[in-house]
Amino acid sequence: MTGGPAGAPRVVLATRNQHKLAELRRILDDAAVAVALLGIDGFPEIPEVPETGATFAENALLKARTVAKVTGLPAVADDSGLCVDALGGMPGVFSARWAGRHGDDEANLVLVLGQLADVPPERRGAHFACAAALVLPDGRERVVEGRIDGRVIEEPRGTGGFGYDPIFVPDGDTRTTAEMTPDEKDAISHRGRAFRALAPLIAELVRP
Ligand code: IMP
Repeated sequence: MTGGPAGAPRVVLATRNQHKLAELRRILDDAAVAVALLGIDGFPEIPEVPETGATFAENALLKARTVAKVTGLPAVADDSGLCVDALGGMPGVFSARWAGRHGDDEANLVLVLGQLADVPPERRGAHFACAAALVLPDGRERVVEGRIDGRVIEEPRGTGGFGYDPIFVPDGDTRTTAEMTPDEKDAISHRGRAFRALAPLIAELVRP
């Protein structure tokens, strides 16, 4: 469990990713939202939730609903991905498994580069999108979205981040998101924006 004064209401973030947990914790602290944030590691009874939704929002809601039901606590979940204009918005919700195997970041990135091989610079627009959902055990639900616009470059650059970061350059920058520090990326990222939009809703709906 991280943060929050003694007796603060608990909120579960549907992730085993410590970086995501720390990022939301920082954002809640900055917004003075007094909740204690838990990951799902302490809840082995939470099942794996298949991401069957057609949108990021649907997938975030599916995960948050399951966690709220199993834990009896307010739950937050997010879903995100890369949307490439020239691919009609794909990989989108298939970002993590675009090359066929879940979580194979390298194969996913190589496949997107191959698909864009003949696409000229002016048509390589793309954005990262993130939906963040808050679900309360009493059934109340909120979803917010964040995005960051940019373009897909031709050769991977940088060693930071994960996923498609080495091939994504945000508008107004020349670096890929894999060439930024974690703080620089969090400040402009789709996930940072979605989590910052969710913070006031957590403050409003989650009460001691
Ligand atoms: P999830 O929302 O954590 O399930 O992420 C879905 C997939 O989208 C990841 O496996 C990555 O391929 C991609 N993705 C989401 N956010 C980012 C990002 O910030 N950088 C690079 N790839 C991302």
